[in-house]
Amino acid sequence: MSEAPVDYHPMWEELGLDLDAHDMLLAAIPQLYAAAYLTQAKRPEGMAYFDFVMSEIHGLRIKELRDHQAAGGKVIGSFCLYVPEEIIRALGGLSVGLCAGAEFAYDEVERIMPRNTCALIKSFMGFKLAKVCPYLEASDLVVGETTCDGKKKAYELLGEMAPVYVVELPQMKNPGDLAFWRSEIDRLVAKLEEVTGRELTAENLAAAIKEVNDKRRALQRLNAARAADPAPISGKDALLAVQVAFYDDVPRFTQMVNKVADELEARVAANTGATPAGTPRVLVTGTPMAVPNWKVHDIIEKAGAVVVSEELCTGRRYYSKLVAEDRTTVDGMLDAVAEKYLDINCACFTPNPGRAEDIIRLAKEYKADGIVDYTLQSCGPYQIESSLVERAAQQAGFPVLRIDTDYSMEDIGQLSTRVEAFLEMLK
Ligand code: SF4
Ligand code: SF4
Repeated sequence: MSEAPVDYHPMWEELGLDLDAHDMLLAAIPQLYAAAYLTQAKRPEGMAYFDFVMSEIHGLRIKELRDHQAAGGKVIGSFCLYVPEEIIRALGGLSVGLCAGAEFAYDEVERIMPRNTCALIKSFMGFKLAKVCPYLEASDLVVGETTCDGKKKAYELLGEMAPVYVVELPQMKNPGDLAFWRSEIDRLVAKLEEVTGRELTAENLAAAIKEVNDKRRALQRLNAARAADPAPISGKDALLAVQVAFYDDVPRFTQMVNKVADELEARVAANTGATPAGTPRVLVTGTPMAVPNWKVHDIIEKAGAVVVSEELCTGRRYYSKLVAEDRTTVDGMLDAVAEKYLDINCACFTPNPGRAEDIIRLAKEYKADGIVDYTLQSCGPYQIESSLVERAAQQAGFPVLRIDTDYSMEDIGQLSTRVEAFLEMLK
């Protein structure tokens, strides 16, 4: 006998969501998900866990966050890789990613910010104005950061509607910038200690660093298997795993990703894949892709290629580097946290040569036939950096297709035609 589905409406009402608008949003996601994910052949069995997580993304996981709060813990939201989840976790907080990947309430958003703001910012502001994001409504604090100008200014508006704290991120990576960033980490620790009512200790920080590193190590394992031809997993499934990393319970997620990695390693040993050997292989780089934004991967893979790596914040930038585990004092561990996080290759930094170097290294390592450079319209940092990426890729012999888009579905036909022509050229 199957259990009756749980009605989460009372929980959503308690969080202050607009129930009608939220029902409308929730009704759209399963169709989007089914069309992108459930139509795929030869998916690893372990992806069933991620199907379940997606089906409960506003249900069971939110209940877990609420239970955590009822037991005295805090929920801390963020929009960027530069917010160290190790510190949040060490202080008994749960870290949740708040970036949004769908168009919602743009009419309201465009009343308070320019129409030509990037889709990521418009999306999270729309989710807030329409009261449809239970993660945002459940957050005891939102930690913003001074990365791009759009986000910096959006946090001022968001701060009128939610508790927001902003860390100042340097724009360069010189030794003085690291020292400044380290002082900002201290300021963040003080704020989080105040909000959580707990104190950072060598024990709780070491444990959190280890747990988050384990999560990143599991993602490294899963992704390492993608270097094989045939690729043992689709790019869409691999992308989903990283997207879920921003929301899910850390130890459970690590265990489930390791399970998928076991399966992928067995596939590689047996020379079987999610797509046939010789399928055109594409590396995707660019701006982050938040749930439910699977648009570019979906277009590429439905056109007959496989995405083998993502140089994205919802990809390698999230899991490729670890916090050093050899420090014994709180200060030493915070130094290690500062070093690891400043080493992320975001286009908001100037200059940012590490990103192009990573793209070329990855394209070689994952035997990519071509590179798709994906930017969100009105995202100045990534759009301008595209020229540098394209030049470096072409010098290394990799063809590049630039895709500049947003979250709408209107350009799917036109993008599919361009991707098909690009894949044809790769042959
Ligand atoms: S692209 Fe830059 S600003 Fe955006 S999430 Fe990544 S690190 Fe943060
Ligand atoms: S996509 Fe670009 S413009 Fe938008 S928030 Fe990220 S860095 Fe800023």
